[in-house]
Amino acid sequence: MSSSSEELKRENLMDYYGINTFNDTLMREKLPKEAYRNLQDTIKNGASLDKEVANTVAHAMKEWALEHGITHFTHWFQPMTGLTAEKHDAFLDIDGDGEPIQRFSGNMLIQGEPDASSFPSGGMRSTFEARGYTMWDPSSPAFIMEGPGGGILCIPSVFISYNGEALDKKTPLLRSMSVLDKAACDIIKIFGREVSKVTTTLGPEQEYFLVDIDYYESRPDLILAGRTLIGAKPPKGQQMEDHYFGSIKERVLEFMQLAEKELYKLGIPAKTRHNEVAPHQFELAPIFSEANIAADRNQQVMEILKRVATRLDLALLLHEKPFAGVNGSGKHLNWSIVDSDGHNLLDPGKTPSENVQFLVILVAVLDAVYNYADILRATIASTGNDHRLGANEAPPAIMSVFLGSSLSNILDSIEKGDEHVSADKIIDMGISNLPKIQQDNTDRNRTSPFAFTGNKFEFRALGSTASISMSATVLNAAVAESMKAIAVEIVAEKASGKDTSEACFAILKKYIAKTKPIRFEGNNYSGDWVAEAKKRGLPNLKNTPEALESFTKEKNIKMLTSLKILSEAEIESRYNTKLERYCNTIAIEYETLKTMASTMVMPAALAYQNEVVNAVQGLKEVSALLGDDTIIDEQAKLLKKVAGEVAGLSKTSDVLKELTEKVETFEAENEKAAFIADTVLPAMDNVRAHCDALEELVPDDLWPLPKYREMLFIM
Ligand code: ADP
Ligand code: MG
Repeated sequence: MSSSSEELKRENLMDYYGINTFNDTLMREKLPKEAYRNLQDTIKNGASLDKEVANTVAHAMKEWALEHGITHFTHWFQPMTGLTAEKHDAFLDIDGDGEPIQRFSGNMLIQGEPDASSFPSGGMRSTFEARGYTMWDPSSPAFIMEGPGGGILCIPSVFISYNGEALDKKTPLLRSMSVLDKAACDIIKIFGREVSKVTTTLGPEQEYFLVDIDYYESRPDLILAGRTLIGAKPPKGQQMEDHYFGSIKERVLEFMQLAEKELYKLGIPAKTRHNEVAPHQFELAPIFSEANIAADRNQQVMEILKRVATRLDLALLLHEKPFAGVNGSGKHLNWSIVDSDGHNLLDPGKTPSENVQFLVILVAVLDAVYNYADILRATIASTGNDHRLGANEAPPAIMSVFLGSSLSNILDSIEKGDEHVSADKIIDMGISNLPKIQQDNTDRNRTSPFAFTGNKFEFRALGSTASISMSATVLNAAVAESMKAIAVEIVAEKASGKDTSEACFAILKKYIAKTKPIRFEGNNYSGDWVAEAKKRGLPNLKNTPEALESFTKEKNIKMLTSLKILSEAEIESRYNTKLERYCNTIAIEYETLKTMASTMVMPAALAYQNEVVNAVQGLKEVSALLGDDTIIDEQAKLLKKVAGEVAGLSKTSDVLKELTEKVETFEAENEKAAFIADTVLPAMDNVRAHCDALEELVPDDLWPLPKYREMLFIM
């Protein structure tokens, strides 16, 4: 146990929770009342920030940072790579007299200008004007990222071009939150309530693998591609189901506790930890928060997990599919909306009116997923996730919504609605008890990509490496659009003389019928569902290149542009960036695979082949002496097997080489991506098959790579 773990034992969580964030308590304490109020107005209502106030905040932040021995600050942002970016600047400056001073002004807090020409812009900026700038997002608290020689003050920021185009993941998320805010407030108004704000809440559950650093460092594929490109199945996999929720190994527990301590210092409320399905696979879930903050925090979580793992000589694997044949990692994104009175709008509520409002909002979500299943699918598309979706471990690439039997029955009876279904009747149907019913695991469907879980939806198809921003952005936008349309129709019904409840049920009925195809309560892993979904006309976008085409579809562009979530140029740049990322990621994989096959697997295979050749030759001499040549037979068979795999490896490697050369000849990125998906990936699998067969033939001491049975079972 490390010395830092000793410390853990003695401290009360409350003594260090949030100490590394410039949070509300600190601001209240450090800022003059007027400045604090002004800043709150900016944070809560998006009011513009007074320059004086910015200077005051910057000063307080600097003083706080200096108390912590901080020398540098950075605007911390999320470019379209899906990772985070930082460029550190020292507070240090030299004044007119040549004396050192430490400076941090309001301007420096608000705006930064990284030399950002190397971030992907998807072709949006030409290089001569390739500078984007970062701008402080006051709604997410500044924090200290601890480093080995002291911390860095990180200022969560958006990243935009000089023309105001979003070059990052945060800007569109913020836009979508405010569009949904407005649309949801208008729905609530229909029910005679005024709320000042509706906020999106997100709770991402993060899955990951841990392996010993020595194994990791002996595997070029893990280092370069984040996943094993070769590796035979271990004799024991996850078939015993003994890992899920099993007792946590001490080394892992130490890792979790140290990581959580770092998270707590950052005010990130890590709540749940447990073993996952696969050996050496784990999960961490925080308590949910406002979407924008949740997205920042999830990036911090991934970063902290990686750092703490390194400290303990462990490697953290965030990849969606680090090990073939073993469950991969995802990131369940729990999504809901809450109004300024603190009501979760996906909580059915107690009164008839609350229940009807709940149904209206629920149906808006159904409508959103129904209308935009394809682009929602695109937001979760990545090379890693392609290995999971539809592979009997994760939801399929087909989007559908699971509601649970009670809620489904309610919607069905509203749809039939021969006799008038009143709000009171809905109460009779037990709608108010839904959260209780749903929390009972019997009414859960683990195979659904998008499931209602009592008072929130759980978007289950995200990959473990994904930024949660884009999925939340598109979901917010799509739901906002449906809410707006539904509100207009309800208001029109009311204008024709119906009361609110009657008007709502008339519209609910219509939308329930319209969105029926997107509802699916059965097993999403089954082949029958694929056929059924096809009959229903639901999109089944099998891989990333297919899914990404959704960004070019007229209806999707129209939705995002008309709501001012993304401009056409911003959509196109995301499409281009994602395509490029797809091609580049797989290029790294096949280059690594080729090298491993030729410099590691082939030499080991040849060495063993020689051993077998020698053995056979030796036997041949003996058999001549004995006058019995049948004794060679079995060894000759083994030799044939080894030689056959060696020849297979050689041939498939040649094919892969040819195909990857062809990749370079494509002009259009989408054609290149499709070629990679359809042709190169299967060729990689062919190479792998021979490598894996050889792994099972070649003696352990000749095999140059750690095996699955070691990486997944020894720690
Ligand atoms: P599970 O059984 O899927 O693990 P939990 O109830 O433990 O479900 O919740 C999982 C995640 O959902 C947690 O991160 C939790 O904070 C989050 N969550 C709960 N309520 C909400 C909500 N209203 N909005 C967003 N996320 C939520
Ligand atoms: Mg979950």
